[in-house]
Amino acid sequence: METLFGTMLTPCSPDRCDVTPDTVVRVSDDGSIAEVGKDKAPKGDVIGGEGCWLLPGFIDAHLHVPQWDCRGIDGLPLSDWLDKVIYPAEARMADAAFAEGLTDDLVTGLIANGTTTIAAFSSPFAKATDKVFSVFAKRGFRAICGMMLNDVNCPDELSSPADKSLDESRELANKWHGGHDGLLQYAFAPRMATCCSEELLRGTAAIAEMMKCHILTHVAESADEESKVRERFPECLDDVDVFAQMGLLGRRTLLGHGVCLTESLRHQVAETKTAVIHCPTANLFLESGLMDYVAHRNAGIPIALGSSVAAGPEPFMPQVAVSCIQTAKALKVHAVPRGHHLAPTPAEGWWLLTAGAADALDLGDRIGTIKKGYEADILVVRPEAWIADLPKEQQASALLYTLRPEQIEQVLIAGQRVGPG
Ligand SMILES: [Zn+2]
Repeated sequence: METLFGTMLTPCSPDRCDVTPDTVVRVSDDGSIAEVGKDKAPKGDVIGGEGCWLLPGFIDAHLHVPQWDCRGIDGLPLSDWLDKVIYPAEARMADAAFAEGLTDDLVTGLIANGTTTIAAFSSPFAKATDKVFSVFAKRGFRAICGMMLNDVNCPDELSSPADKSLDESRELANKWHGGHDGLLQYAFAPRMATCCSEELLRGTAAIAEMMKCHILTHVAESADEESKVRERFPECLDDVDVFAQMGLLGRRTLLGHGVCLTESLRHQVAETKTAVIHCPTANLFLESGLMDYVAHRNAGIPIALGSSVAAGPEPFMPQVAVSCIQTAKALKVHAVPRGHHLAPTPAEGWWLLTAGAADALDLGDRIGTIKKGYEADILVVRPEAWIADLPKEQQASALLYTLRPEQIEQVLIAGQRVGPG
């Protein structure tokens, strides 16, 4: 049994984030939250204390494991960035021992940034992906992850025939899906519509449905990508249409980016309960565009945020939420006519990092909030002291904008202390 004490942050809804000082949280040995209540600081072995806050762990719903050490390499046209930085980063994962070491660095880095759950692409190599999962298991990390699938329009060393990569994915799913008390989930991960044959896309949809696994992919990432989709699938309107026809849309599918979704596509995505993972830092880094988050949300699409490492340079998710707000503000400032757009509030930022993201990932009954019966994915942080002296309704906002990774003192995943340090 672990006992935690501090000011608790509770993202209740997109509109409301509660702050409760003097909260005691008790965690059972099975990793679930046994009790949450207001009380004096308990005596004895307590995690946290005066000046500490208790936050639900952050969820990063889109990133690329092989690209962890490629963040922030700017100044190249997109095709050069892919050829010189991203594809070589993936190709070196053919060496499974290298993949194991890099994944260990990634987990250390993510925990230091307060991330307790990821949805991530591995490389196109089965042995390396197996190592990635073994590191997640060893470190007690929570992850939805899968081998990158692509069989056309990508470098030869990263390409794999559809039947081979689907067989390998199925074996990996058999081994890891639901493993380690459900901390690990396997995902089928076609890179994007233009890099996959129809056989690969249809096979992915069928096997993922049969095994109740997530599907991770990219959609409507840029105008350039959209025109390539029309060249490759002339009978389809766009990549949403491709995915719809191949059976890939649904409650367990996470579509990365979605910058160029039109109003009708937003409704098509929302109707199938497919989630969009908003990657505001990457959209700016790659100059893909400013995604209209508020329009996506108003259409009813489940949304989570992604660091999109390495197209996104920032692994610290509160700053990704700030970027989501700032992108919406940029659209608002430049909207014609004025007043056409709204920006999300800081409460919504917290929601997108925690409970809202958990809902989008179909994990909303297990994680995302500090509540009795939930799994204890909890951060203990020590923010700047003046935040506690602000009027209560300003505290969550100030915390979102000023929190820094070095203020994270403890990270628990399913009740286990996993870091930092
Ligand atoms: Zn991506």
